[in-house]
Amino acid sequence: MSDKPVSQSRRDAVKVMLGTAVAIPMINLVGFGTARAAAPANAVTADDPTAIALKYSQDSTKSERETAARPGAPANQQHCLTCQFMQADAAGATDEWKGCALFPGKMINANGWCSSWTLKAG
Ligand code: SF4
Repeated sequence: MSDKPVSQSRRDAVKVMLGTAVAIPMINLVGFGTARAAAPANAVTADDPTAIALKYSQDSTKSERETAARPGAPANQQHCLTCQFMQADAAGATDEWKGCALFPGKMINANGWCSSWTLKAG
């Protein structure tokens, strides 16, 4: 057996390893880097009776705001961050998760929406 096929195999193996070494950081940039933080344990869930009654969705773009928009702002500007009931300084609040006066002790998504949305004053 000659050395030539073995050398070719080594070159191929090195190419595969280098490709993998480049691909892993790209996966981190494209995938995990944009992953949303996990919901807190006390996040309002879809089966919460108040959430059902108020048609709350933690993603306003998937909520009923287009058909049930409240007065005060265009539907696409209605989300929890622009609502007067949102409590930015609630215990455990983060950039993504906030408190809400209508869901005591629970967290709502900053980009959520419910049928009680009311334009925040000021
Ligand atoms: S009342 Fe306002 S802050 Fe609370 S869930 Fe509804 S839209 Fe979001």
